Amino acid sequence: MSSTASGTTGGGDRRGDLGFATVEFHGAAGEVTGSCTLVKTPKARVLVDFGMFQGSPADEARNAVPPEIDFALLDAIVVTHAHIDHCGRLAMATELGFRGKIYCTTATHELLGKVLRSSARLQRARFYERASGSAPWARALMPGEEPGPAPEFPPAHRLFDMPEVRDTMDRVEGVPLGREVKIAPLVALVFRNAGHIPGAACAELQIGAGANRRTILFSGDLGPDRSALLAQPDRPARADVVVVESTNGERRREPGYDADAKLAEIVARAAQRKEKVIMPCFALGRAQLLVHRLARLHGRGLLHGLNVYVDSPMAVHGIEALYRHPEYLAPDLRAAVQSGGAPLWFPELHYVLSKRESMAIDRMVHGGIILAGSGFMDAGPVLRHLEESIDREDCTVVLSGYQPEGGFSWKLQRGADRAQFNGRTRTVRAHTVRLEGLSGHADQDDLMKWFEGFTEKPGRVLINHGVDTARQALAARLTGELGIPCTLPARDVPIEL
Ligand SMILES: [Zn+2]
Repeated sequence: MSSTASGTTGGGDRRGDLGFATVEFHGAAGEVTGSCTLVKTPKARVLVDFGMFQGSPADEARNAVPPEIDFALLDAIVVTHAHIDHCGRLAMATELGFRGKIYCTTATHELLGKVLRSSARLQRARFYERASGSAPWARALMPGEEPGPAPEFPPAHRLFDMPEVRDTMDRVEGVPLGREVKIAPLVALVFRNAGHIPGAACAELQIGAGANRRTILFSGDLGPDRSALLAQPDRPARADVVVVESTNGERRREPGYDADAKLAEIVARAAQRKEKVIMPCFALGRAQLLVHRLARLHGRGLLHGLNVYVDSPMAVHGIEALYRHPEYLAPDLRAAVQSGGAPLWFPELHYVLSKRESMAIDRMVHGGIILAGSGFMDAGPVLRHLEESIDREDCTVVLSGYQPEGGFSWKLQRGADRAQFNGRTRTVRAHTVRLEGLSGHADQDDLMKWFEGFTEKPGRVLINHGVDTARQALAARLTGELGIPCTLPARDVPIEL
């Protein structure tokens, strides 16, 4: 998914117009993971995000190669949110010589240590499993496809362990949304709500002083314009330069799709047939969206008594973060929490916090709903739940969001009839169904609305965190409809602002 393409639309090459900073994209340039952007001013160096590359084993191997950045010279690191593709390599920074402070929102601060510790545990487990040849695996088989041997896993890299996480977390300072904080000589930072996951923020860097002050706004990951769960992304008034994500830069939501009605239908069928419903989901983002939608079904009397198991401690941390930081919630939910309510709770909701409990719910009878990771069905407890139940007719697997091509979930959605789990082959008898409308990312129209909200049009937009077709589609609209010159940065190529 990497790219070397770079281009500018509209306004020609504006290189050197302002001369207040240089930015270098060391990841997420023409791809959707590995966010890592260096901002150099005449007086300071600030890194925005230090995320992992995710996807294929080859992508993962790239994480062990540090970016060409002198970490000893960095004044600060700014983290937009706690997703691993934005913060996952942070615990490598001190080993690479970083001695400055790390800034994120107070809600992200609470999640960050948990995310990094969980990543260290996972890296350790993967390392030993692969070294001993006992790595768990699963593969869906299309009709006619022969079962194969275990995949050849490359050796796993251990990027950091608990001592590095501790060193990293000692450097973190949580900053509330909207508060200006000086982070480097002549560089101030303000976080603005990005509406993406609990704690997610856009990072506004204000560079210079007085009449020479310029701002670069990093969108981080932006949430949809309207979310039933989360607050709308803040509409900043102005910025000289915007660095915007484009994960869904070429996608537009299906108009009129009613996710609540579809979910109600899935739940009604499951209750009637006493089914087990498996919902693969990511711990920060989709899990909270699903819990909220299920809470609303309960409120309308449409859950039919089905128990809901959240099989992910991180997903539970995400729910708790929303209660502690209701500023990230949509206005009605925020008001409910501020008056002592618990709008994400219902009596059938159960948190599964240990592997033993997770294994116990595999024996669940009389129907129930399991939310478990990973969302791509390539790892985590969801594989065990699938192994247990995929050959049963009283099981439904709910697929949502993007599925990596050729992966387990991608094949399941396209009619895979068997699945291999660590060598054992099971017939797929479970019913699979798609549920749309659960993306945590702004689509193309949402991104346009966000830009239309600026009272003063940005002078320039740099588009990152998206594949090239998504970046080009967004650039075409921003330039064509709003007249904003756009640049699609290439990896490691400095851009002067
Ligand atoms: Zn994200």
